[in-house]
Amino acid sequence: MSESVTRVRASSWGSLFDCAHRWEGTHLLGLQMPSSPRALLGTAIHASTAAFDAARMAGAPITPDDAAGVLVDTLHTPPYDVDWTDDLTPPKAEATGLKLHTLYCQDWSPRFEFAAVELETKPFRIDCGRGQVVELVGTMDRSRIRRGAGGIGIADLKTGATAVAKGLAKTKGHAAQVGTYELLFEHTTGETITAPAEIVGMKTKGTPEIAVAEIRNARDVMVGTDQFPGLIEIGAEMLRTGLFPPNPQSMMCHQRYCARWSTCPYHE
Ligand code: SF4
Repeated sequence: MSESVTRVRASSWGSLFDCAHRWEGTHLLGLQMPSSPRALLGTAIHASTAAFDAARMAGAPITPDDAAGVLVDTLHTPPYDVDWTDDLTPPKAEATGLKLHTLYCQDWSPRFEFAAVELETKPFRIDCGRGQVVELVGTMDRSRIRRGAGGIGIADLKTGATAVAKGLAKTKGHAAQVGTYELLFEHTTGETITAPAEIVGMKTKGTPEIAVAEIRNARDVMVGTDQFPGLIEIGAEMLRTGLFPPNPQSMMCHQRYCARWSTCPYHE
């Protein structure tokens, strides 16, 4: 039987398990829509903090001010269409972004020893059966590999209006993405992840705030155990059958965030 290979960005795989119907629309059917200003703010913060961390890791550190130029450039020349709103105007986004960027570079980055920043991964093949193969490709967007007393672990930066609550980063809904990155890291480098993953949450609404929280055993969520099937097996079944279930209770089930909104019959 000849093989049919579908390539998807590794960084998108986790969102398959939020609303699979939306994931199919965006990543298999190619539906696009303008991004939200908060998504662009996230992109800008990720780009500037990655520039700072990568320089520090390479032994040629740059100042937070130098790296902040990346944030400002990204906001002024977005890499995709953005639907600006009164809630978050470009000046407000820049002010919030610069506060979070500076806070991260001065107070948080120095706490980590990084082994990789946004690592380019080796393609990871998932056999879905009946000749269908999914290949996860691309970089571990927005993630770092950190070394600590417990060994190697993932540090995944998450920005958002509610990314921090009660002094902790929000971890809910992130296990699939983090588990994917743990698998990809091991597949790419041959090294084993031994430390729990850390989510570094950066709150972009209200007072800018950064906090961390751990996710343990994220890899098990992807590969499964003898007690439950992993998300890889469940995702492979969706791709093999072509049945991508909707989730109208998803936080992203809104015309502002879902490119399939206008034709999807499952939301209210
Ligand atoms: S409108 Fe809601 S249920 Fe439909 S695809 Fe989008 S997120 Fe999923």
